[in-house]
Amino acid sequence: MVTRFRDYGKRLADFEEEILVRCPQCDPYGGLRLRTAKILTVNSNQSSLCSIKRIICQHCSYTKQQSKDRKRKATLLLWQKNYIAKSNSSYGILDHFFGLPLWLQTSCCGQMLWAYNEAHLNFLESYVQSRLRERLPGDILGWHNGSLASRLPRWIKLTQHREKVLQKIQQLKQTL
Ligand SMILES: [Zn+2]
Repeated sequence: MVTRFRDYGKRLADFEEEILVRCPQCDPYGGLRLRTAKILTVNSNQSSLCSIKRIICQHCSYTKQQSKDRKRKATLLLWQKNYIAKSNSSYGILDHFFGLPLWLQTSCCGQMLWAYNEAHLNFLESYVQSRLRERLPGDILGWHNGSLASRLPRWIKLTQHREKVLQKIQQLKQTL
């Protein structure tokens, strides 16, 4: 299980350069006007353990920087916990750098559908669509074992959830 998530997290890191979250200053209490802030990778080597994450809100002056050179394992465990979080959490899925609620998240099929950013959302959409288009034996095996696609939760892959998942993805896109 840990290996599985480590593998998944590594590929998920491809989408970590820009993470949309709810700004803690614009939206301190889950208030009326929700605003997005962005968690950006400051240095160029995104995969480095020493990479720096910084929150920037375009709507207010809020900014915060954090070194990512410590407790990688702990943050991974936190992410894993978030990953399986159910919709009964008031804040839902949190980013694993600052612990802020992800902007792109919604309940779907009794689970939480979430994405870091538009590119991640597009990835999920193309995955759900493409596997429907290619209904060939071995289609699933065609995905690399270590790829993000092969590590998606089963409920996203279920045919009976496809329309709902695509509908929710569209709803999330409208909030961008
Ligand atoms: Zn703000």
